[in-house]
Amino acid sequence: MEKREQLYEGKAKRVYATDDPDLVIVSYKDDATAFDGLKKGTIVGKGAINNRMTNFLMKKLEASGVPTHFVEELNDRETLVRKVSIVPLEVIIRNVSAGSFAKRFGVEEGIEFSEPTIEFSYKNDDLHDPMINDYHAVALKLATWDELDLITRYAFAVNDLLKAEMRACGVRLVDFKLEFGKTSDGKIVLADEISPDTCRFWDMETNEKLDKDRFRRDLGNVEDAYHEMMKRVMGAE
Ligand code: UDP
Repeated sequence: MEKREQLYEGKAKRVYATDDPDLVIVSYKDDATAFDGLKKGTIVGKGAINNRMTNFLMKKLEASGVPTHFVEELNDRETLVRKVSIVPLEVIIRNVSAGSFAKRFGVEEGIEFSEPTIEFSYKNDDLHDPMINDYHAVALKLATWDELDLITRYAFAVNDLLKAEMRACGVRLVDFKLEFGKTSDGKIVLADEISPDTCRFWDMETNEKLDKDRFRRDLGNVEDAYHEMMKRVMGAE
């Protein structure tokens, strides 16, 4: 597999073309941003941790029936994935109140829901990723009803598997964000990443935060938290 020109640079990853038009290479950076890019920093080792944890979880998801873009881990930071066009929706699943949910509805963080919730944000930097409902997404042709139905089912299936994985290593899965893509043959697959950048992980015993909120809220020990999560999930250093 030959790595060719850079196609795209995002906040946390770069994407490169390959000699196969249906495959691209994602390269994870240590750069961290929050609050719409207003807060910037570096989390040393984050790129490798997010790359390896994402791949570890995507393989399990694939085996449990959720199709993903994952093809092959190339090295610590780089992974070969299927080229997709990203459905411009952030799909957010919540098991416990936190973050924008707590703020928007004026409730405290840490309230356990009896059932998980789903919501969508329209991925649009100029508009600051506003919350959007399914009718609006269809009206704007961001996805079809069938695609939204599939995305919703996959997202809850991801929650089931992820919740069980996390419970097994003493972690409470509070909420997370997924992105889906469409392959050249029109198939919807899970894309992007599943990592402490995109999930809220709380220690089951102490409720200590083991995710990007440590960076967002200047709680310190950011690198330690990412490392701790990788160790717990993958049993690896
Ligand atoms: N999230 C994300 N990218 C975003 C917005 C949210 O990965 O652009 C994740 C976030 O880490 C959390 C979940 O989605 O696990 C829900 O985030 P929330 O809506 O509470 O927003 P926040 O408080 O992070 O602004």
